[in-house]
Amino acid sequence: MPDLTGMQREDLADALLSAGVPKPLVARRATRIRTWVYRRGMTSFETMTGLPASLRSQLAGRLTIGRPAISRRLVSRDGTRKYLIRLADGQEIETVFIPDENRGTLCVSSQVGCTLTCPFCHTGTQRLVRNLSAAEIVGQVLAARDDLDDWEDPHNRSGRRITNLVLMGMGEPLLNPDAVVQAMRIVRDDEGIGLSRRRITLSTSGIVPGIQRAGREIGCMLAVSLHATTDALRDHLVPINRKYPIAELLDACRAYPRLSNAERILFEYVMLKDLNDSTEDAHRLVRLIDGIPAKINLIPFNPWPGSPYQCSGPDRIDRFARIVNDAGYSSPVRTPRGPDIMAACGQLRTKSLHPKAPVVTKRTANRVPGQ
Ligand code: SAH
Ligand code: SF4
Repeated sequence: MPDLTGMQREDLADALLSAGVPKPLVARRATRIRTWVYRRGMTSFETMTGLPASLRSQLAGRLTIGRPAISRRLVSRDGTRKYLIRLADGQEIETVFIPDENRGTLCVSSQVGCTLTCPFCHTGTQRLVRNLSAAEIVGQVLAARDDLDDWEDPHNRSGRRITNLVLMGMGEPLLNPDAVVQAMRIVRDDEGIGLSRRRITLSTSGIVPGIQRAGREIGCMLAVSLHATTDALRDHLVPINRKYPIAELLDACRAYPRLSNAERILFEYVMLKDLNDSTEDAHRLVRLIDGIPAKINLIPFNPWPGSPYQCSGPDRIDRFARIVNDAGYSSPVRTPRGPDIMAACGQLRTKSLHPKAPVVTKRTANRVPGQ
């Protein structure tokens, strides 16, 4: 049965029509159902007592209202929550909630594992890979709202805990663009999760054809995992660079819709000791992004069991930040959140458990659209 949580309004309207709802009532019914599901957290048609009983049972026979299960929840000393989320086929992903003083950010996954193999990233070492559906992407937000008791109180519309969403969990969102675009339409929709496009940030390792599409079809803020300033090093650290080298990637960034000082691109740069943290690197970085409204997010490398790298020392990071800053770019250093529960950037990885799940090996899965 189709899952309502991943459906667009038009699809729900069609389903209502075929369940016998008279045409003039379809729009109103669709709005109410979506509000109940996405803003009040209802998980079954039976509880929708505002609908005629016959329609409720019709719908229950045609649609599910999916909710992935939180199979484990870890809460960090700093308040960060990491959820291990079990999908209907038994595969698992991770979702992280990061509370801050005046906002709460949910970091969602777009794939089980990742087909790309950036050697400093734990997710990249995971063998099982599949795309998430739109319902599974939206489902992470719904599951987190359950856990955080973040449902709308009709008498008090402020005080939401999840105020921002970042596509920075497991997977490369632009290698699963259809589901990501569908899910973000629901996240943005006022009848859906209701976050404005500027509160959504998509991070990509640099899938050039997907960048324009994200800008056009989601309109979100863009984060780009740059991590190196020469193709030789980036070919190694972010291997998709061999297909989309730095110059092409930066051209795609320059062409990003609505790029302006108010909507700058965030370049992510992981600080790896003696690899990419020299003063030459910092100066080269500044030259590369010349003319692009940008912020640079320096991410101290977060280790994981068996990881082959070390984080740059604080002096190196400071020196790097100062050069970038002096060139006029804001260069905040990202504080690792939830490192005690392995929730920080690049530490997410699950053992996909379902014995019957089709195994997609890296070799077959590591294809890019258009190849
Ligand atoms: N696949 C996407 C989004 C997920 S990763 C991408 O690569 O952009 C979110 C960010 O964490 C990326 O910038 C990624 O390169 C970075 N990252 C991965 N492993 C890391 C680690 N061990 N320490 C610090 N940052 C890491
Ligand atoms: Fe995939 Fe991003 Fe990790 Fe690279 S850094 S392996 S693209 S999740």
